[in-house]
Amino acid sequence: MNKKENKIEISRHSLAHILAMAVMSLYPEAKLGMGPAIENGFYYDFDLDQKLTPDDLPKIEKRMREIIKEKTAFQKKTVSKKEAASILQNQPYKLEILQDLPGDKVSLYRSGDFTDLCRGPHISSTEEIDPSSFKLSRLAGAYWKGDEKNPMLQRVYGLAFSTTKELKSYLHQLEEAQKRDHRQLGSQLDLFHIDPKIGPGLILWHPAGAILKRIVENYVLDEYLKNGYQLVGTPHIAKINLWETSGHTNFYQESMFPPLHLAEKKQKEKEDYQLKPMNCPFHILIYQSQTRSYRDLPLRYTELGTVYRYEKSGTLHGLTRVRGFTQDDAHIWCRADQLEAELKQVLRFAIKILQTFGFRKYDIYLSNRPAKYIGSEESWELATGALKKALEAMKINYLLDQEGGVFYGPKIDIKIKDSIGRPWQCSTIQVDFNLPEKFDLSFINARGEKERPIMIHRALLGSIERFLSILLENCAGDLPFWLAPTQLVILPVSKKYKKEAGKISSQFTAQGFRCQLNDKEETVSKRIREGELKKIPYLVVIGEKEVKSQILTIRQRGKKKLAKVSFDELQKTMKALIQKKK
Ligand code: ZN
Repeated sequence: MNKKENKIEISRHSLAHILAMAVMSLYPEAKLGMGPAIENGFYYDFDLDQKLTPDDLPKIEKRMREIIKEKTAFQKKTVSKKEAASILQNQPYKLEILQDLPGDKVSLYRSGDFTDLCRGPHISSTEEIDPSSFKLSRLAGAYWKGDEKNPMLQRVYGLAFSTTKELKSYLHQLEEAQKRDHRQLGSQLDLFHIDPKIGPGLILWHPAGAILKRIVENYVLDEYLKNGYQLVGTPHIAKINLWETSGHTNFYQESMFPPLHLAEKKQKEKEDYQLKPMNCPFHILIYQSQTRSYRDLPLRYTELGTVYRYEKSGTLHGLTRVRGFTQDDAHIWCRADQLEAELKQVLRFAIKILQTFGFRKYDIYLSNRPAKYIGSEESWELATGALKKALEAMKINYLLDQEGGVFYGPKIDIKIKDSIGRPWQCSTIQVDFNLPEKFDLSFINARGEKERPIMIHRALLGSIERFLSILLENCAGDLPFWLAPTQLVILPVSKKYKKEAGKISSQFTAQGFRCQLNDKEETVSKRIREGELKKIPYLVVIGEKEVKSQILTIRQRGKKKLAKVSFDELQKTMKALIQKKK
C-alpha cells in the first residue's frame, strides 16, 4: 500500500466513525456493528428499530458535516478489556467483538462523546477531512458477522475520496456505468434472462443473445483452429475420483456442484459424480489416450467448455458472475525448451483477439504462489520464472499480483480497460507443472525416454458470458456490425409494399446477413423507433420510391443523415464491415 492509499484508507475509516457519531446523535438507541473502510469509501452497520430509508441519508450526511466542522479530535486510549467492557456496556455487538479479541489490552478511539472499539489508525482531528469529498450512497441489509443465523443489521454505505473532484468523477463514472448496465441492455435488446424457476446465476439465452454468443464463439474458435489448436469435446460431469486426482476436491470443493453442504451429508462414494468446474482433467485424459512423442509437442486442445461453479448467491451479478458459463478454454502441452516461445505466442494471440473486440487498453498482471497450493516450491519458481521471461522478452510492462496464482500454478492475467476506464479481467495464461505430475503425464523424448510435459492453461476471453457483459457495457449496447444480432431491419411503409419488402429481406438473409422484416401494422415511425431501441445498425424503409428506383433508403444507427444506395452497394458495404470487424 502506498502513502496516498494509506491516507485515504485512514480518512475513509475515520468517516465510518463520524457516520456512527452522526447516527448515534440522531438515534441514540442505535446499537453499533462494524464500520470498516472499503474500496471507494466506507460503511457502518447499525441495529435500529426504525427502518432507515434513502430519505434519511441527507439528514445523516448533514449531521456528519456538522461534526466535521466542530473540529472533533480522535484520541486513542489503551485500556484493559474489563474497562472497555464497562465503557461499551450498552453496545452488545461491540462486547461480542471485545470477547473475541486476543490479549487483555485493547485500544479505544474517542471522538467527542463517542467511543469505539478500534485498532485504528485514525486522523487526529475531523479538520483533516474535506466535508465535500464524501457522500452517503446507499442502504443495505447485512447479517451480523455475515451469518444468516444472526440478526439483520442496517448498513449505511458512503463514498469517500481525497478530493471533491475525485468524488465527482467517481459519481460520474457510476452514472455512466448505470446507463450502460448490461442487465438493463439485456432486457432492452431481448438478449437473455435469469429465471428464478431455474435458479440464480444460470442464463437463459434468447434468440438475439444466443446468436451474439455464437458469433463470438465461432470467431474465437476459428482463430484457434487457424493457429494450431485442435478441437476436443468433453462431458459436463465426471466421477469424484477424477477430481480427487486433479486436486479439485481438496482445493476447489467450495466452488463445485453439488456444493459442499450437500456433498458432506453423505459419505462421498467412488461412483458419485460432480459437475465440472474446469475442463483441464478431461483434456488431460485425451492427451493420455495415446503415447506422445516429443515430435507431437506442442499439442494444443481447445474447447468451448461449459463449466459450473458454486458462487455464493450474494456475489452473483447479471452475466458478470454466474454459476454456469462457457470458457474459450485450451490446454497446451509442450517441452521445457518450447515453453517460452509458446507463452509468447499465447500472449500475442490474446492481445490480438482482444483488440478485434475493440479493447486496446489493458494492464498485465503476473500472479505468483497463493497461500494454498500444490506442488514443490521449486516447480513454482520455475513456472513463475518462465512467465516472467516471456513478458520481459516481449518488453511488456506488468504488475505483480502477490499470491494471486491458482492452486496449481502461477499465471498472467490481462485486464482490459473499457470505454469508461473500468478494468475487467479477461485473458488468463497459467503454467502448470503440477497436474502433469498428478496424472503422471509423459512423452517419449529424443533419447527414447519418458519425460514429463509442461502444461499451459489458457482462456483468452475467459467466461464468454462475462465477456459479453463487458462487450455490451463497453459499447453501451451499440454492438459493431459484425456482432449485431440483427444487422438490418426492412420496413415497408405500408401494406402495399409488404411483398416487395419481404422479397428484399429474404434476399439479404439468403446472402448470410442477419436481416429481419418488420411489417407489423404500426406506423413507420413507431417501427423505426423500435429498431432504434433495439440498436439495429441499419433500418431500411421500402416505399413507392424505393420500389421504382431500386435505390434503398438507409437509416444508420447514430447518424442523422439518410443514405441512399443500391441493393448491391449495401451488400458490399455490409460485407466489408463484417470482414474488417468494425
Ligand atoms: Zn485448465
